[in-house]
Amino acid sequence: MRRVPRLRAVVTDLDNTLYPWVDYIVPALEAMVDSLVTTTGLPRVRVVQSLKAVYARHQSNEYPFAIQESELFAPYEADFDSFHALVLEPARLAFKAARERFLRPYPGVRETLEEIRRRGLKLVALTDAPRNAAELRLKWLKLDGHFDALYTLPAYALPDHVSPEIRRRQAAGHYVARAPVVELPLELEKPNPAGLARILADLGLDGAEVLYVGDSVKKDMPVAEANGALGVWAEYGTYVSHEYRERLAVISAKAVTRRHVAEETPARWPLAISSFTQVLELLDGARWTRPAGAGAGRARRGRGAAGRTGGGGGAGALARKGRR
Ligand SMILES: [Mg+2]
Repeated sequence: MRRVPRLRAVVTDLDNTLYPWVDYIVPALEAMVDSLVTTTGLPRVRVVQSLKAVYARHQSNEYPFAIQESELFAPYEADFDSFHALVLEPARLAFKAARERFLRPYPGVRETLEEIRRRGLKLVALTDAPRNAAELRLKWLKLDGHFDALYTLPAYALPDHVSPEIRRRQAAGHYVARAPVVELPLELEKPNPAGLARILADLGLDGAEVLYVGDSVKKDMPVAEANGALGVWAEYGTYVSHEYRERLAVISAKAVTRRHVAEETPARWPLAISSFTQVLELLDGARWTRPAGAGAGRARRGRGAAGRTGGGGGAGALARKGRR
């Protein structure tokens, strides 16, 4: 296939674009709640509601100090060490075991990221997760060394009650990703296009030189469009089972869920991929056809490597012929 040289960077969303966030967070939070129900003897609903209140405050349900910051801790405040040993530590281990089992990149993600960089393109992540949550997740996935930079929302601070071990690890830089991180102000949460604009300015690139991948039609694609980048919709990231959506709604504050998971919506984006590996096909100059039906008016002609609409029409997805 013809290589189109003018794409010089790939900017990608993280959650549900590089890994199925829901597939890990649901079992991990549930395992943690199970542990807390056992160790505190409190009803499940009380545990869930206490945690949810903290998650909502921090706008993240990966806030790792939710338990000691919740009202669950109040009766035991006089003795943090016992609470740590008997409640926090078992809960942390339960979460960790589930996370290690269920947090995985989508197929081909690692190889695709490696190939993008091998080709000399810049590779940058743009996420609405807090800095520490994003860094940790990429570290757990062993993907933190794959990026030229991560752009995140502001980090959460360590709370008053935290084990000395965590303070020591934090001071020693154990929670820091290998890639440089830029914290964007909270108001730059997507679909605010200014986050990507900042990346373009930092890289010295024009929007048309950038391919932007994300799973949310409402949050990610407007960011690409406003910056003149080639927006690529990771449609596969929106396939979240109904059961998992329901289980997540029980434990996750609504505002938090919205940040991580694209809402079920009829909205489509004309350039859709069914696997992250198809980013390489687009870089190779694979053609795509825009859908015949609604939403086709949003397709822009002549944009980026694959932006020319094919004559075939109707498929609305990436043409397969570009596969290497
Ligand atoms: Mg996402």
